Amino acid sequence: MILDVDTGIDDAMAILYALNRPGIALEAVTVTYGNIDIANATRNTLQILELGGRDDVPVAAGASKPLMKPFSGGAPHVHGTNGLGTVELPAPSRRTAEEHASDLIIRLARANPGQITLCPIAPMTNVALALVKAPELATLLREIVIMGGTIYHAGIGGIPSPIVSANIWNDPEAARIVLRSGARIKLVGLDVTMKTLLTPGMMAAIACGTRAGAAMMEIVRFYLDFYKSVRPDIAGCPLHDPLAVAVAEDPSLVKFEPMQLDVELAGEITRGQLIADRRSGVSPNVDVAMEVDLDRFAPRFVEALRTVGLT
Ligand code: CA
Repeated sequence: MILDVDTGIDDAMAILYALNRPGIALEAVTVTYGNIDIANATRNTLQILELGGRDDVPVAAGASKPLMKPFSGGAPHVHGTNGLGTVELPAPSRRTAEEHASDLIIRLARANPGQITLCPIAPMTNVALALVKAPELATLLREIVIMGGTIYHAGIGGIPSPIVSANIWNDPEAARIVLRSGARIKLVGLDVTMKTLLTPGMMAAIACGTRAGAAMMEIVRFYLDFYKSVRPDIAGCPLHDPLAVAVAEDPSLVKFEPMQLDVELAGEITRGQLIADRRSGVSPNVDVAMEVDLDRFAPRFVEALRTVGLT
């Protein structure tokens, strides 16, 4: 697996989850802007990998802004001014690879044809750049498992368009390049991720585990407080990015509906919205996760985070 991240509190949890699952070999982490600017996202990624005891995983930085517009400034009210809930982890002991994220994706896919799952849990600028540079990537990758978008879920506050998720909103043009690439694609969006709540009880169980799990739960408090403020009706914070990684490892955690999906680029009030064409005779390009098995995912998440890294 290659994870493409904008670390970010839920990205951090997704990275730790990927490090501690038997079905995932994390080959590299590529970084972009999104929740926070790329400099912070890159430092956070290095810090989280070190926290998880895996500073051997290559990290490459890539796009610092969307294809067609400047960086929006991210979401410090969701992820904290440093992207990790204002918790200060030790400075990373290493730097990123010299290679651009998109070049690393292309190189690893060419070296391992049909074997790499690319899991973008961030705006898809790096993935789009890689597909433009090397269109054959679409068939070289085993599949692309995207965190983003919504079909029926109403969306979350803070984004100008309704029915749009942050990862797609941040770079709709990149999303279109990916959706039209011909790659095998699974989409894990708000329809399922908003059902996967990290509850205070789960947080307490994780915090009793390794140092890494405990530090992660310290970081999550900021994110939980944000969700308490915007969604007082839900008892926890959604595990957006971790669910996408979990589905990449084990697709049986969700039920998919095949759809032909494209993304609106020019709508007055719908820019960034995914449009599903379900008319008969239309061939699907994406398997969209529409139901999730929480009874299996929640304990698996707690166990992975509780035991990640060194005690
Ligand atoms: Ca993310």
